[in-house]
Amino acid sequence: MDNGPTPRKLEPATTSAGSTPAERLLAVQARITRAADQAARDPADVSLLAVSKTFDAGAVRDLAACGQREFGENYVQEALDKQTALRDLPLAWHFIGPIQSNKTRAIAENFSWVHSVDRLKIAERLSAQRPAGLPPLQVCIEVNVSGEASKGGVAPSEVPALADAIAKLPGLQLRGLMAIPAPTSDGGAQRAAFRQVRELFDDLRARGRALDTLSMGMSGDLEAAIREGATIVRIGTALFGERTRHA
Ligand SMILES: *Cc1c(COP(=O)(O)O)cnc(C)c1O
Repeated sequence: MDNGPTPRKLEPATTSAGSTPAERLLAVQARITRAADQAARDPADVSLLAVSKTFDAGAVRDLAACGQREFGENYVQEALDKQTALRDLPLAWHFIGPIQSNKTRAIAENFSWVHSVDRLKIAERLSAQRPAGLPPLQVCIEVNVSGEASKGGVAPSEVPALADAIAKLPGLQLRGLMAIPAPTSDGGAQRAAFRQVRELFDDLRARGRALDTLSMGMSGDLEAAIREGATIVRIGTALFGERTRHA
C-alpha cells in the first residue's frame, strides 16, 4: 500500500506535460527572450498575450497569480463569463476571434483590444458602440496572408483602404496588423508569411499611419514571428495545455 503511486489528486494542478502554470509561463517567456536575442531585438518590445479560450476562470486566475495581465478570448459569451468571475483582478482583455455583427456591442463595452477587425462595417459598429467613458478601443486589422478562403482576415491588397477608413473612426485607435498564417512546421515558410505581414505594416507606416503593433505568432511559431517583428505574440497551448474542445 505505502509504496504505490502517489494519487494524482494530491498533486498541484498540472497539465499532461506535468508542469505548473508558473513553469509554463517562465518557459514561454524564455522562448520570447531567446527569439528576441536572436533577432537583435529588445525582449521588452514583445508582449505576451495569454489566449485562454476554452480554459476556465480558474486557469486564468492561476496564470494571473504568476503576474500575467493580458488575456485573449475568441468567444464573446465565454469571455464575459470569465470577466465576471475575475472582476477582482486587474486584467486587460483582448478579443481575437471572428466577429459577428450582433456581438459588436458586447465587445465594444467589455474589451480593451480587438485584433480581428476585417470589415469596415464591423469597425463602424465597434466605434459607434464604444462607451464614451472608456478610452478608444485599440484595434488591429486582421490580414489573410495565406489566401485561405475559409479564414478570416482581409486580403493584403485591401488593407490600405481599410486602414484609412478605420483611422477616421473616433471610437477606435488603429494600432497595427494581426495575422494567423496557415500552420506549418517549416520555419522558412513561417517566416515568409510573417514577413509579408511586416512588409504591409511597413508600407502603412511609410504612408504616414502611426502604427506600433504586429500581433503575430502562436505556440508553434512564435520564434519565426518575433524574428519578423512581432510585438504581441498570442499564446494558448504553451501556457494552458492542449485544448480539448472547440478551436
Ligand atoms: C487559439 C488562438 C491562438 C493561440 O493558439 P495556440 O496555438 O494555442 O498558441 C492565437 N491566436 C488566435 C487568433 C487563436 O484563435
